[in-house]
Amino acid sequence: MTKEEIKSATKHSLYNKNEIENSKMCGCYYCKSTFPASMIRYDDYIGGEWTALCPLCNVDAVIGDASGVPINKKVLTEISNVMFESESLTANVQDEDDKNGLIDEQGTETIPGKWKRVGYLIDGFAKVWNDDNKCGIVDMDGKEVIPCIWKSVGSLIDGFAKVWNDDYKCGIVDKNGEVVVPCIWLDAERFSEGLATVQNDEEKWGFVDMNGEIVIPCTWKYTNYFNEGLAAVVNDDVMWGFIDKNGQTVIPCIWKGSRDFSEGLAPVMNDDRKWGFIDKNGENVIPCKWSDVEYFSEGLAIVIDENRKYGYINMEGKLVIPCKWDYADPFKNGQARVSDDDRNELTIDKSGNII
Ligand SMILES: [Zn+2]
Repeated sequence: MTKEEIKSATKHSLYNKNEIENSKMCGCYYCKSTFPASMIRYDDYIGGEWTALCPLCNVDAVIGDASGVPINKKVLTEISNVMFESESLTANVQDEDDKNGLIDEQGTETIPGKWKRVGYLIDGFAKVWNDDNKCGIVDMDGKEVIPCIWKSVGSLIDGFAKVWNDDYKCGIVDKNGEVVVPCIWLDAERFSEGLATVQNDEEKWGFVDMNGEIVIPCTWKYTNYFNEGLAAVVNDDVMWGFIDKNGQTVIPCIWKGSRDFSEGLAPVMNDDRKWGFIDKNGENVIPCKWSDVEYFSEGLAIVIDENRKYGYINMEGKLVIPCKWDYADPFKNGQARVSDDDRNELTIDKSGNII
């Protein structure tokens, strides 16, 4: 792509709500992921609710396929290299012989200063780069938990991290730095219920087990993680269904959008872009009539009506807390945080009373 082409492509990441609603697949040139357009939530738009945020990295760098821009890893990487790479490389590098470490709030050096670059400290771990520009992860004592031998390393999540080798092939290592999934994939994601998603060179997704062996072949355009024994998958027509851990399709790909099962029910979006819920037999037990919904938590799920107001339904689909809140969080220990029209944060109980 020429610089001009890249510039005009990035224009599609602004004020793009209509374009995205007319797209099947989207790509983000910040995290370089491709994903179905239905992954972008009703309230994932900023800038007067017209600019989409990436559902995977929260950056406003999303382009839909209705723009005419080819949505694939190669194109997204080209755009990213022009838009972000030069910036992020210079930001952290200091003087040539200046070695970086990390200090805590008291000024004590927590990670000894021997690295060329040190990333942010997240949950007690930081990404580091050595003089050869190889990347690894150190703990608070400066101990290399993931040795500096990788081209790039993702964050440690649930004891696993994505790594890329010199050929930019992706794999997964555990928190001891041991390779669990060898670097032979275009992309890989975290483990959930013993299986991790991997993407092959044709940009199709499948699953590997804890030995890195493929157990569900890479045939899907997109997959979510396994949850309650099922994973949401997207076929070539960008329609959503569910597979079990044997790779069998247990709920056919007939939905325009879907999210993970929780408490036995999964959100689904119909052709009119309205959300409801299905059970594990695929039956549409709560009709699709909401602008958006959240997963069930403690028997209640958030629903958003056409006026962008938040309420809660029970597992029978009955609206038990009316849609009158400006924002709402899922219930936890019998309580949920909501905010009113004036953006006051309040706590409510399961009857909708303010406590
Ligand atoms: Zn992204």
